[in-house]
Amino acid sequence: SSATTPIRATLFPGDGIGPEIAESVKQIFQAAEAPIEWEEHYVGTEVDPRTQSFLTWESLESVRRNRVGLKGPMATPIGKGHRSLNLTLRKELNLYANVRPCYSLSGYKTRYDNVDLITIRENTEGEYSGLEHQVVRGVVESIKIITRQASIRVAEYAFHYAKAHGRKRVSAIHKANIMQKTDGLFLKCCREVAEKYPEITYEEVVIDNCCMMLVKNPALFDVLVMPNLYGDIISDLCAGLIGGLGLTPSCNIGEGGIALAEAVHGSAPDIAGKVLGGDVASPLFEILEHFDPMFLPSFPGLPNNFNIQICSGGSSIIRWPLVMLRHFIESGITVRLAVQFGGHGLMGYNLSHGSQGCNLANPTALLLSSVSMLRHLDLHDKADRIQNAILDTIAEGKYRTADLGGTSKTTEFTKAIIDHL
Ligand code: NAD
Repeated sequence: SSATTPIRATLFPGDGIGPEIAESVKQIFQAAEAPIEWEEHYVGTEVDPRTQSFLTWESLESVRRNRVGLKGPMATPIGKGHRSLNLTLRKELNLYANVRPCYSLSGYKTRYDNVDLITIRENTEGEYSGLEHQVVRGVVESIKIITRQASIRVAEYAFHYAKAHGRKRVSAIHKANIMQKTDGLFLKCCREVAEKYPEITYEEVVIDNCCMMLVKNPALFDVLVMPNLYGDIISDLCAGLIGGLGLTPSCNIGEGGIALAEAVHGSAPDIAGKVLGGDVASPLFEILEHFDPMFLPSFPGLPNNFNIQICSGGSSIIRWPLVMLRHFIESGITVRLAVQFGGHGLMGYNLSHGSQGCNLANPTALLLSSVSMLRHLDLHDKADRIQNAILDTIAEGKYRTADLGGTSKTTEFTKAIIDHL
C-alpha cells in the first residue's frame, strides 16, 4: 500500500468516553500522516429492523466494504427487542478470532518487565454457543460445541499471525485430558495446521498449568491459541500482567479478512463527558422535563460535582428543576446525571457547558488498538512510529492520565504523544 492512496477504515467512536478517545486517535493519525481515511459511524438512537440492533445496516456495510475498522466502547442499552451491539458485530461480521497483544509498557511498572505475548481466542463457539437448558428440576445442562471448521480457522489465523509477526512459538491451551472429545478435536486441528508451519515451534499446554506458568514467568509464552472460554479468562489474566484493561488493545478478525480493532475496556460512564445540547444531552433534557420543578435550596455550599439521580417509573431520589440544571451547567459546574430505569443503573453522564467531555479518559488502549489495525494493514513503519510515541510518553512519566496515577487530561496526554512522534 503506498502512502499516497489513503485506505478507508470504518470508525465507531462508540459511547461514553469513546468519542473523546477516538478524537485522540484521529489527531495522532493525522500528525503521524497515517494514510487512513476514517468513515465515521455512530450507534443509532433506535433499533434498525434490518440488524435488530441499534447498529445500523449501513455501519455494518461500511465494515464489510472497508474490511478494516476501529471500534470504541459501546454501551448496549438495557431493554427487550434488540440484540447487544457487540453480539451483533460478532455475528454479522463473523468475527471468529479475538487477538490481544500484551506487552510490558516500559515506564509503567508492574510485577513483570518482560511480558510480550499474544492471546488468540476462538470467538464463535465453545461454551458460548448459548445452548443451555434444564434437564429436570435441579439439573441443568450446557452444551459446549467445538467444530473442526472453527478450530482449523482459528489455528490457521494463529500460525499465520505468528509467521507474519516473526513469532517463534504457538501454544495451544486446552483441557483435553478431561474434555477429551471437544478439546481433543481442537488440538487435533491445531496439530494439523502446525505441520504446515515447520519453522514455528508448536506445543500444547493444559490450561491450569498455563495459568501457573503465566503468573510465575510470562516470558515462557509467545503466541497462545485457545477455545472461547479459556480465551476469555486467559486474555484478561494477561491484561492484568501489564497493568490492566485500560492499556490493552485487541483486534477481532472476521470472515474474508475483516479486522475490527477495539479497546478492551467499556464506555467508562463515570468519567465520560457530554457536550451540552449535543445528541445525548437533548434526550436527557427531555427526560428532565418530565420532573416537577422543585424549590432549590441555596446552593453556594454545593460541591462542584454532585449526583442527580432519576428513576423512571419510581420516584426520583433527588429532583432538581431543569432551569437550575441549565444554570449550573452554564456557570461551568459539572453536573453528573445518572439515569436509572427499573432500579438498574443505566447510564451516567456528566453535563458540562461547552466542554468536549470530562477529558479524563486514557486513550492508550484504543490507540494501541489502532496500532494493531495499522499492523493488520502492513503499515508497520506508521505503527512503530505511533506505538513508540505512546510508549515513550508513558515511560517519560510527565504526562499520564489519572488512571495511571497522573494528572494529565486526555488532550494533554494526546498532545504529548504528538510531540513524541
Ligand atoms: P468500564 O471499562 O467502562 O469501566 C470500568 C472502570 O474502568 C471505570 O471506573 C472506568 O472509569 C475505568 N476505565 C475504563 N476505561 C478507561 C479509560 N480508557 N481511561 C480511564 N479509565 C477507564 O466497565 P463497566 O463500567 O463495567 O462498563 C460500562 C459500560 O461499557 C457498560 O454499558 C458495558 O456494557 C460497556 N462495555 C462495553 C465493552 C465494549 O464495547 N467492548 C466492553 C466492556 C463494557
